[in-house]
Amino acid sequence: MTSTRTDPIVIAGAGHVGLIAAIAIGQTFENVISLGTIPEGNDKRTTALMMPAIKFLRQIGLWESIEPHAAPITTMRILDGTTRLIRSPAVTFEASEIDEPAFGYNIPNVTLTEVLSDALKGSPVKHVAASASHYHPTESAIAVEAGNGAVYTANIVIAADGRSSLAREAAGISARTWSYNQTAIVLSFSHTRDHHDISTEFHTEHGPFTQVPLAGKRSSLVWVTTPAHAVELLELTRDQLAMRVEDRMQSMLGAVTIDVDPQSWPLSGLVPTSFARNRVFLAGESAHVFPPIGAQGLNLGVRDVETLLETLPNDGTDLGISSVMSSYNRKRSPDIIARTGAVDALNRSLLSDFLPVQMVRSGGLELLRAFSPLRGFVMREGLRPGSGFRFSRKDALPNH
Ligand SMILES: Cc1cc2nc3c(=O)[nH]c(=O)nc-3n(C[C@H](O)[C@H](O)[C@H](O)COP(=O)(O)OP(=O)(O)OC[C@H]3O[C@@H](n4cnc5c(N)ncnc54)[C@H](O)[C@@H]3O)c2cc1C
Repeated sequence: MTSTRTDPIVIAGAGHVGLIAAIAIGQTFENVISLGTIPEGNDKRTTALMMPAIKFLRQIGLWESIEPHAAPITTMRILDGTTRLIRSPAVTFEASEIDEPAFGYNIPNVTLTEVLSDALKGSPVKHVAASASHYHPTESAIAVEAGNGAVYTANIVIAADGRSSLAREAAGISARTWSYNQTAIVLSFSHTRDHHDISTEFHTEHGPFTQVPLAGKRSSLVWVTTPAHAVELLELTRDQLAMRVEDRMQSMLGAVTIDVDPQSWPLSGLVPTSFARNRVFLAGESAHVFPPIGAQGLNLGVRDVETLLETLPNDGTDLGISSVMSSYNRKRSPDIIARTGAVDALNRSLLSDFLPVQMVRSGGLELLRAFSPLRGFVMREGLRPGSGFRFSRKDALPNH
């Protein structure tokens, strides 16, 4: 007779990925512990979540509470904001072209944290507001020491403890890390003209400048630039900064008023050598970090959680056996490695002054602008890996 495992699943980290993982996994498994302090409301960022992530949040009963605070993104526009010799054509992507009402929704991070934290309180998951200080993985279990002195003998640990993950290190998973000579300035602003649910990304010599709609006549901004320029922008008064934002956007949204002070985020990248080992499964930024281009980070984190739910057997057997870990590894590797590579390449192509690189980027955007099946493919793949290919195959099948 096989013995059933009743020891807990510990989810380390109570950022967005840790909270979503705890709520989702707590709906299927009985003994789930969420370990970590829920961040205080000082994050000025907003997160664009794409439709596949929204569908998952709806499935686990979270979307109804988030939706009233979220703004739809129905159109995405890429404009060349450089002064280079070779400039790229403007490309517009409409969600209606791929039969979606919207690409996704933009949500203030603080609101997302509040909704997730309330949902966790109402769930059967035990939340312990302490950090994990040590992990001791063995053949049959993993002991987790918490900062409050408690020790939990867990079946597995979900490492949602961010880019400097202690759980990843304790599992013996190394990671390649790199930094970019770029900083993202984030802020929110009101404007006198309607945004019509359009997000506009200006490609500049120092990185993308991306406006994303918020509810009403408001938008959030992620302005990727050099660290020195970021320092200069942070020293401006709100009025001076508003003028810079309005200039950069060629006044397309009318007069700008900054209503959430800017914050800066240095940009870096990380990819681990494995996504599960020694009873530790990586999710969120412990598993992938890259620049905020194309709103991929948390969307990928949600897919990590979805894949965990698909992969962890719910029949009382050991979740930390090598076949389960290899299955998670196999399922997550292609998506994470492809996204990390694509975002890195796109970012570097923006920064490159090398003429052939500019020509390739410009040629690629021209193809996208002119060829709607390719645009449809890129939009679907951008939302969810494999969906562009699946659609192309379906489209190629003759009608019977
Ligand atoms: C400027 C910017 C804009 C972005 N915009 C978007 C966007 O529009 N769309 C999108 O999808 N993504 C976006 N991202 C990416 C997104 O923000 C991240 O992918 C997401 O925040 C990662 O969440 P996480 O929970 O994995 O990590 P974190 O938010 O870092 O959470 C990890 C948590 O673990 C805790 N922790 C650490 N060590 C321990 C320990 N030992 N024990 C317990 N807890 C521990 C930390 O305190 C922290 O609370 C953006 C990123 C940036 C920088």
